[in-house]
Amino acid sequence: MPISKNFSQRLYPDLRSIAEHFGTPFHIYDEQGIRDTGLQLQQAFAQVKGFREYYAVKALPNPSILRIMADLGFGFDCSSIAELQLAREVGARGEDIMFTSNNTSPEEFIAAQAQGGCIVNLDDIGLIDKMPQMPEQVCFRYNPGTARSGNSIIGVPEEAKYGLTHEQIFVAFEKAQARGAKRFGLHTMLASNERNADYMVQTTQMLLELVAEVGAALNIEFDFINIGGGLGIPYHPDEKVFDVEQLGRETHALLQTFAAEHGYQPKLYMESGRYITGPHGVLVTQALNRKEIYRTYIGVDACMSALMRPGMYNAYHHIDVLDKASGPDDEVVDVVGSLCENNDKFAIQRALPPIVDGDLLIIHDTGAHGHAMGFNYNGKLRPQELLLKADGSVERIRRAETLDDYFATLRFEPEAWSAS
Ligand SMILES: *Cc1c(COP(=O)(O)O)cnc(C)c1O
Repeated sequence: MPISKNFSQRLYPDLRSIAEHFGTPFHIYDEQGIRDTGLQLQQAFAQVKGFREYYAVKALPNPSILRIMADLGFGFDCSSIAELQLAREVGARGEDIMFTSNNTSPEEFIAAQAQGGCIVNLDDIGLIDKMPQMPEQVCFRYNPGTARSGNSIIGVPEEAKYGLTHEQIFVAFEKAQARGAKRFGLHTMLASNERNADYMVQTTQMLLELVAEVGAALNIEFDFINIGGGLGIPYHPDEKVFDVEQLGRETHALLQTFAAEHGYQPKLYMESGRYITGPHGVLVTQALNRKEIYRTYIGVDACMSALMRPGMYNAYHHIDVLDKASGPDDEVVDVVGSLCENNDKFAIQRALPPIVDGDLLIIHDTGAHGHAMGFNYNGKLRPQELLLKADGSVERIRRAETLDDYFATLRFEPEAWSAS
């Protein structure tokens, strides 16, 4: 969608000189916008006892951004050793971190349980015996299978590799309890980029029903439920924003009903990534070449290595051209990178103002799952990241990759094996 008016009003007037200063391409994030959205989320859940957002680190794993999250009082949802390290570097400890991994390795368990540990969220019943030690608090990820529908990014639950079945959930908590776990959480993550608050309300309802069932069967009270991330944002101008106030209001009501029936209320956790930072980042790239063949192609100096979503999910990302408004002169073009891969298109058959070499294109909504997803195929390097700070200054928060970075894995101690 068009990025927040506030962001564009503060960014666009200076964008040409920012681009000249730092060089293109770059992702630039809006500190004020991130803070405003974070506060709005907290407001929406102000009534909900023990509400906490665990920012999904994978969405934008940059320490400068994570420091903003820590400042907002958020925890961190991590799923790798690197992400644990990032969260701990900004001060997260113990229950500030939720480790939601998949197919977890012994090294990952050791890292998760080091430095004061964290909340471990187990993705499979078989992992109980693979954890070096049973923590005092344990959480399991639930996969409802055919009981719920999913959506296109994450797939339908029945076909998704995540979580435990309904039946396994009971066995798993019983087993964890027998191994000494004393505090319990229940997690799920069913949809991604879901803009319908009803779906997330139903997810809360589903978890509370299961908490009631498991609680009755094993005589336990749950410390928390975690309804996952997946709150959507409007990438396309025609799409609606997620009604976070509705979600806050309706989950509050569900939790109160639960409390009235069961005499206690689990805390409510959430682990959004996209909703918090997605709209507050843009990829700025310069037009390098205009090519007229069967279609018109606008070649830019960024490629898929900076933003995978269009190529990977056929995702729409809105594009502005700096200082050129859309109008009757718009032309239909494909905006493309330089990769030897025909998926390397930021926009396909998009109406944009006439673009000439040197124009700056602003690709919207890259504040989550943007830079982080990049790769090095074709020897392409990932761009720098900048932060537009609340005081209006701009800081580089990650440098661009260099050829030296690219070749770093080719410098190693020789090692060989042969059958002797
Ligand atoms: C990716 C992920 C999230 C964040 O998803 P968003 O769509 O960015 O909100 C949260 N939890 C888990 C387990 C994830 O894998």
